[in-house]
Amino acid sequence: MPQSASDPPAAPGIAHAVAPSLHDRGNLHTVATQQLDKAARAMNLDTSVRAILSQPKNELIINFPVRMDSGEQRMFKGYRVQHNNILGPYKGGIRYHEESNLDEMKALAAWMTYKCALYDIPFGGGKGGVKFNPREHSKPELERITRRFTHALGSNIGPEWDIPAPDVGTNSQTMVWMMDTYMNIVGMAEKNSVRRIVTGKSVTAGGSHGREAATGQGVVHCITEWAQDKRFRLDGCSFIVQGFGNVGSNTARILSKLGATLVATGDYKGYIANPEGINPHKLTEHVGKTGSVMGYKHGRAIAREDFFGLECDIFIPAALELEIGLPEAKALRCKLVVEGANGPTFPEAEEVLLSRGIDVLPDILANAGGVIVSYYEWLQNKRSERWDLEEVETRLERRMKRTFAQVRELTIEKKLDWRTASYEVALDRIQKAYLERGIFP
Ligand code: GLU
Repeated sequence: MPQSASDPPAAPGIAHAVAPSLHDRGNLHTVATQQLDKAARAMNLDTSVRAILSQPKNELIINFPVRMDSGEQRMFKGYRVQHNNILGPYKGGIRYHEESNLDEMKALAAWMTYKCALYDIPFGGGKGGVKFNPREHSKPELERITRRFTHALGSNIGPEWDIPAPDVGTNSQTMVWMMDTYMNIVGMAEKNSVRRIVTGKSVTAGGSHGREAATGQGVVHCITEWAQDKRFRLDGCSFIVQGFGNVGSNTARILSKLGATLVATGDYKGYIANPEGINPHKLTEHVGKTGSVMGYKHGRAIAREDFFGLECDIFIPAALELEIGLPEAKALRCKLVVEGANGPTFPEAEEVLLSRGIDVLPDILANAGGVIVSYYEWLQNKRSERWDLEEVETRLERRMKRTFAQVRELTIEKKLDWRTASYEVALDRIQKAYLERGIFP
């Protein structure tokens, strides 16, 4: 993928941790802007609010050195984009991926703003990461990269200012390293009060019960609500998940408990299918051992083109962004697309899906379970509380159903698609805050 226009090239002579691109994903910030414009038109969004939201408040790029196991020193490029904080501290994941770039971070940060606003969580939006392939590094190298990046971010993050979390290529271990590094930067007496500097930590380190599966659980809450509305039976239906990481695997496991059958899946290595059904629990074990769904003995390897043309009831993109373009949108044979990933659908592909009568539950509505439970984790840390799994799950379900109902009403009342209606709920909250507070000075 070409570097984005706003992404400065690497300094000559410095080896950046960049792998060759496999898939041109287009410019994500352009996609986010198109979505914002569509919703702004539908609701007559104030033009000054529209202008503020079209660019992030802060864009930070850091180049930092890390010592590799071989003794060699290597330069890495890190990002943190802070999109908006009118409703609360910046909040959003840290991504480790070789194709990461500034425009991607800008789009992902904006979607965090809208996701939090949609669910009335008192957070704004941010996103960050490091441009490298974590699969190519040992655990000690990953630890040094994470700690050095956190140190370089320094006071640009903070427990009441900007709170990172896991995303693609990072996990609870990454968050524990970040937390520990940050705790060691502040004074001794403050250490424990800054535990909430990151969310998505392990339970041992002060994370929340239910955070690990929260995004997948939230995807399933949305599917359940949609099914109830359409009088569609989930028991006996079929689904496909693209991507079998945290979101894909948890979604598949939880959805299969409701009687739905996983008929195909895939990851960065390839795609597999089995019309008789794939057991997501066994597949998770296989992925745990081998690192990929490929080679799973109860699935037949298929090509990417065939994968998108398979018949199913529900298609769940839970891999990377911009996977559903025009050819995929024309090929899909399903009733519903649910965005487990952030930004998996090109706007023109979404138009095709909608014209074919396929509903699209957008990322900011469908995959918010993660940040919702992140908020619960942050609150528990702040109050020195520990909630049990049942309490977390009950609160998550209630919040997701309430917002889903609000969006559904808008889709009916104003004849909007699900994405535009979700944006409208979110933008309305942000707009009210700006109009009431005004612009300083
Ligand atoms: N990375 C996740 C997302 O895109 C979670 C962010 C968080 O928990 O702050 O929603």
